[in-house]
Amino acid sequence: MDKKYDAIIIGAGIIGCCTAFELSKKGYKTLNIDKESGAGEGSTGNSCGNIRFYYSTRDGVALAYECAWYWHNWREYLEVDDEQDVAQFHNTGSVFIKNQVLDWPKIKNHFDEVGVKYEEWDLATIKAKIPMGDFHSFYPPKTPDDPNFYDEPTEVLEGACYTPESGYVGDPTFSTKNVEDAAKAKGAGFLYNKKVTGIRQQDNRVQGVTLEDGTQIDASIVINVSGPHSFQITEMAGQSDNNLIKTKALRHEVHVVPPPQGFKPLENGYHTNDADIGAYYRPEAGNMILTGSVDPACDPQEFVDPDNFNREVTTEQWKAQVYRLARRIPELPIPNNPMGVVDLYDVSDDWLPIYDKSDLDGYYQAIGTSGNQYKTAPVVGAMLTEIIQQVEDGYDHDAQPLEYKLPHLGLTIATSVFHRKREINPNSSFSVVG
Ligand SMILES: Cc1cc2nc3c(=O)[nH]c(=O)nc-3n(C[C@H](O)[C@H](O)[C@H](O)COP(=O)(O)OP(=O)(O)OC[C@H]3O[C@@H](n4cnc5c(N)ncnc54)[C@H](O)[C@@H]3O)c2cc1C
Repeated sequence: MDKKYDAIIIGAGIIGCCTAFELSKKGYKTLNIDKESGAGEGSTGNSCGNIRFYYSTRDGVALAYECAWYWHNWREYLEVDDEQDVAQFHNTGSVFIKNQVLDWPKIKNHFDEVGVKYEEWDLATIKAKIPMGDFHSFYPPKTPDDPNFYDEPTEVLEGACYTPESGYVGDPTFSTKNVEDAAKAKGAGFLYNKKVTGIRQQDNRVQGVTLEDGTQIDASIVINVSGPHSFQITEMAGQSDNNLIKTKALRHEVHVVPPPQGFKPLENGYHTNDADIGAYYRPEAGNMILTGSVDPACDPQEFVDPDNFNREVTTEQWKAQVYRLARRIPELPIPNNPMGVVDLYDVSDDWLPIYDKSDLDGYYQAIGTSGNQYKTAPVVGAMLTEIIQQVEDGYDHDAQPLEYKLPHLGLTIATSVFHRKREINPNSSFSVVG
């Protein structure tokens, strides 16, 4: 292994790999270092891989909608032929249930401005499309031990918005390995089972990293893409005080349940965001239903040590999520044994990511992805590469944050919304919706 690179990328999750691919295409000699044994084995591996476009800011919507091109044209992005086995994007479309939590008129404005394709469904249309659903409002989401949990609902929902180009990737780890291979084909290097324990610097310029075994690897660019461990790397780089937006690791459970008899989610299911019951759900392999929470106020938030947290599904959270889903789908069978996965979101103070330089020359960051940036990774890799190139060429990104032109939509994004020194964005949903 060489000991000198143009750029060291700490992390080989989906964003780290996409960043390596884009930098390599521009001629940088890159090395991703990951403490796990392969690409996509960090939080990406347990991502639900949902590809949807509703975000609470115009730039969040634009970033997410730009990514649609990549998932619909995955082979073209990877530059591979039809023989190559690649991760599958399931284009189910996405149903956004209009609710009291997320401001639909605001999101609709963003959709119109960005040009997102959507249909508005009234109640009769939702009932026709999803006949097994009970479309009363159960708002606000509650835990099953709430005395009002089983109250008879009196109100009905207003309707939904359907975006036909959405869906999900069922195997995020495989998609990450696809990008790793694409990056390798451009000359990128990957080093596994190695933990970064130090970031060396001199005269406020990054010099490289030190590994747990004492190995030193040099690079004048080091990028923190370490997912839920991001705050540890920020600290290692001495940037905790300079990043005004902070990040921390939030534990999150995702559950899997069988569908009602006769319903085949893989054939007829949609990806759905249903904040009325505090949930999102989608089809899952084996004709199951996968469901996660959109962080309703009734559920406790569990910020944890990313190296030491409970990886088992808890009965409490299982009941909360699955019983709430059973209000929407009354015929839902509920197994005795909880099934699902547990992993961590790298949550920022306002649930919007940091894609930025830092106060340490040569040190960059793609962190605080807050449970909602798997989908955007190919765009983020390209945007971060542009920031790196411009800043290394002397551009003052702090004085005037770059306007990034999205290549497929032709729109620009104000990268100031992802700046490490921004004010907390009051437009955020302060949830996984972003
Ligand atoms: C349960 C769950 C569901 C989600 N669902 C969705 C979804 O439906 N749609 C969506 O868009 N997003 C979703 N997300 C969010 C999405 O998965 C993340 O935003 C994205 O995967 C982050 O990718 P990453 O490459 O930044 O981080 P990771 O995949 O976490 O990669 C970081 C890597 O850094 C490595 N690392 C950390 N510290 C060190 C160190 N000191 N030395 C060496 N290596 C180190 C880790 O081992 C890890 O592999 C979900 C997340 C979770 C947890």
